[in-house]
Amino acid sequence: MSPPVPPRIPRRPVPTATSISPSTSASPITICPENDPLYATAFWYSIPGVPGFETCSHCYASHIRQTRWADRFHGELQAPTLTRRCRFNTPRARQLWSEALRRDDWASVSAYWARRAQIADCQGARGLAADVGTQWFHPTHRDIDGFGICAACYEDLVCGTSLAGRLTPANPGQPAGELWSCKMTPYLRRVLLRAATHNDWVAFSVAALQAARLPACPGSAGVAASKRSWFQPVPAIDGLVVCETCYINNVAASFMETNWVAVPAAPAFTAAGWQTRVCGFSVLPLKIACLKATQDQDYPLLWRAAKTIFSTPYCAPAGIENGTWHRLRCGQDLEFELCAQCMAGIMVPFGFGDRFVQIPFPAGTKRLCDMNTSAPRQRDYYRKLDEAVSLGDFTCFETYARRFAGVPPCPTYNIVKGCHRWYGNDEFLACQQCWEEFVRDTPLANNLVHKGVVLPDGACCDLYSPRMRQLWMQACNTGDLASFTAAAQHRTSVYAQTVPHMQELLAMARMRLAQKQTLLFSSVMLQGANNIVEASRAPRTQTTTYGNSQVGYHATPAGAQGARDWHQANNITVVPGNEMVVVAQLEAMWKEVE
Ligand SMILES: [Zn+2]
Ligand SMILES: [Zn+2]
Ligand SMILES: [Zn+2]
Ligand SMILES: [Zn+2]
Ligand SMILES: [Zn+2]
Repeated sequence: MSPPVPPRIPRRPVPTATSISPSTSASPITICPENDPLYATAFWYSIPGVPGFETCSHCYASHIRQTRWADRFHGELQAPTLTRRCRFNTPRARQLWSEALRRDDWASVSAYWARRAQIADCQGARGLAADVGTQWFHPTHRDIDGFGICAACYEDLVCGTSLAGRLTPANPGQPAGELWSCKMTPYLRRVLLRAATHNDWVAFSVAALQAARLPACPGSAGVAASKRSWFQPVPAIDGLVVCETCYINNVAASFMETNWVAVPAAPAFTAAGWQTRVCGFSVLPLKIACLKATQDQDYPLLWRAAKTIFSTPYCAPAGIENGTWHRLRCGQDLEFELCAQCMAGIMVPFGFGDRFVQIPFPAGTKRLCDMNTSAPRQRDYYRKLDEAVSLGDFTCFETYARRFAGVPPCPTYNIVKGCHRWYGNDEFLACQQCWEEFVRDTPLANNLVHKGVVLPDGACCDLYSPRMRQLWMQACNTGDLASFTAAAQHRTSVYAQTVPHMQELLAMARMRLAQKQTLLFSSVMLQGANNIVEASRAPRTQTTTYGNSQVGYHATPAGAQGARDWHQANNITVVPGNEMVVVAQLEAMWKEVE
């Protein structure tokens, strides 16, 4: 099983209730996405003749529309993509824009954007490969060990400030085949902007050195209290302390620095045993409330959210027993459930609290919060929330929940029984998820015979793969359902020849692996017991031994059995070579039509 995917956290605030305009496609988004993708369909503005430059509708509305150059920008409604970035909202670009306006110098600012658009976006700790060809900047006097930033960060943040000369192009540059990560973080960005106003390179270099030495946040597992420094908000909240790393990343050098204090050092050991602490920022709703508070520079917002979060049950990946639960006001029958922590840390700070109502459930029941990172649709819900925040309109979240809440995830080519609903005809079927997200609104959807049927013998989905979806779209464009049906029938016959046999071979390999592991484990245990007996005997005493010439002679029967298990385990081949070839061939045949 793959680990839960951490959600992308909404980072854009919504306007207050009085300033929300009706969400039409032409309304600007509520705040600039900066160096993050935008998950909403929205207007983006480009400049003809400056390829690669785009600005979001928020920046256009706030800084450009009222200037004499507004007509030089061309707006177009764009579907979300992961690569589009707003190029306007950086300290450097905004500075150049106002200077150019003052001097009436369009040529210089458009030349800057043309050049900036050619520089690769910062990828932070994920790094950039050498073949991207980005320029790197290192401290001119080599006074911060291991520190370097990418060209995008240099252009956007450092260039044009009093500290620009403190960083120079890396020489030698990035060697071929190496991946370099950019050391600029939100914390160092805050420190840099502050230090640049006083030309204080020492303050920046001290912060950069300190940040590089921080240990990783111990997370929800906790750590011995004496192993870290801890911080808490003012006034203190019962149960909330944060580790020094999270304090630096989220609080230090920010607007709320003075609202937090260090927690006095803890004794390592108390009457109750080792004292351990869990960092409050390992609780996701607190992190999200902190983002919103940072956007709005609103410390009381964070404090109020934290107060509720730390007095309600933890939104655990395994679910919460009892607890306080909320459902959507517009669809109280929908299986979308929100715990008290997520309500206080996510929905209330972003202004969507009134879209939910509290729902009583029978005592003793355990439920998983739908915004928890282990919930099946959490990633989509966070994207919809992000979209709702950008547009200042919660409807898209509600519409998504109405269509997908409680819908089981697509089983792909695995046969599933139970409560799944199926759509299609006798030759092919789509699961409920694929029906909702892909088939339902296409022209041929009306030609399907089965809609929402339950199949007691089980079925698998035919419409999840890019290939089948492309064939379906072709059929929709030509109105030719027969050609799609023929392709689906061919796929089904290849399925029957490949997938069941492949799954059988893999199941056998898994069984052999389990058997091998059991034998190895028992062998280690038995030989350990044998060694204890052997070591406790007086030296040179003549005693009975057990075993044979093949497994050797041992002090105890357990030792002999352990040696036999060891031999047997080593004789098991988990995946015989020829089977591997067969699986690969079957898989290749299946992939061709999947
Ligand atoms: Zn913007
Ligand atoms: Zn960077
Ligand atoms: Zn932490
Ligand atoms: Zn929750
Ligand atoms: Zn499906």
